[in-house]
Amino acid sequence: GVREKAGRVCLVTGASSGIGLATALELLRAGHIVYGAARRVPRMTPIVAAGGYALPLDVTEEDDLQRVVSTLLDRHGRIDVLVNNAGAVVHGAAEDTPVAMARDLFEVNVLAPARLAQLVLPGMRLRGSGTIVNVSSIGGVIALPLGAWYYASKHALEAFSDTLRMEVEQFGVDVVVIRPGVIRTGFEAGAARQLREVSGHGAYSRMAEAMARAAEAQTIAEAQTDAQADAETHTNAQADVDGPAFR
Ligand code: NDP
Repeated sequence: GVREKAGRVCLVTGASSGIGLATALELLRAGHIVYGAARRVPRMTPIVAAGGYALPLDVTEEDDLQRVVSTLLDRHGRIDVLVNNAGAVVHGAAEDTPVAMARDLFEVNVLAPARLAQLVLPGMRLRGSGTIVNVSSIGGVIALPLGAWYYASKHALEAFSDTLRMEVEQFGVDVVVIRPGVIRTGFEAGAARQLREVSGHGAYSRMAEAMARAAEAQTIAEAQTDAQADAETHTNAQADVDGPAFR
């Protein structure tokens, strides 16, 4: 597993909070070389304090994506693990949500992880190994009211991941999909706030209840390192991590 094979070069996007931060710290604890990347660099101080690195990254900027990947390749000659964790959420009635917001959401949740995968793959293929972890959501396999664009974006990420897995398996590259349930991070609080604004809808109270019973980010961080360990056996692992709300 990952713990036996320490020293892998890992890039974690959205490492400035929640699941990404917990994942970066967990990978550091397991002995890996870890780069966190996000827009809010100061929030990644815990990663630097634990021996990792923090790079500025807006995943919607092509130049940023290329710069981050080049930085790791220049310094280490390889990227072993890419964790596409950065994500955004928009809640609201499908009828009312501006398409411009949906477009921005797809930039972050679908196009950015796909583009980063494109950028790390040539090196992984050449070396005949690598792991790409895409953080989807339980919303990548089910849909609920008031989150049409979010669920659509995660479903798109799932389909992209499935195709990519089939294409790159032959090169020794694994594609892992993680599906958190409701996890206690800033993310779920933001979603709860957005849902409150549309609280006339019957789905609100059920979602709010689910948010209140959210699990901790550490649960996902551990599931990810487990899934990466499984992926090393080239089983193309997937991990469904249901929060208490979806048990
Ligand atoms: P947080 O809001 O705590 O973290 C989101 C992270 O994404 C931040 O570090 C943020 O960094 C980063 N991010 C957002 N936009 C960009 C951008 N344009 N460029 C770079 N980084 C960006 O959320 P979570 O930890 O909860 O979410 C992480 C992942 O888990 C997401 O993909 C989310 O969809 C998924 N997930 C979460 C669930 C939950 O209940 N919390 C449930 C299911 C899935 P910064 O703002 O500094 O750039």
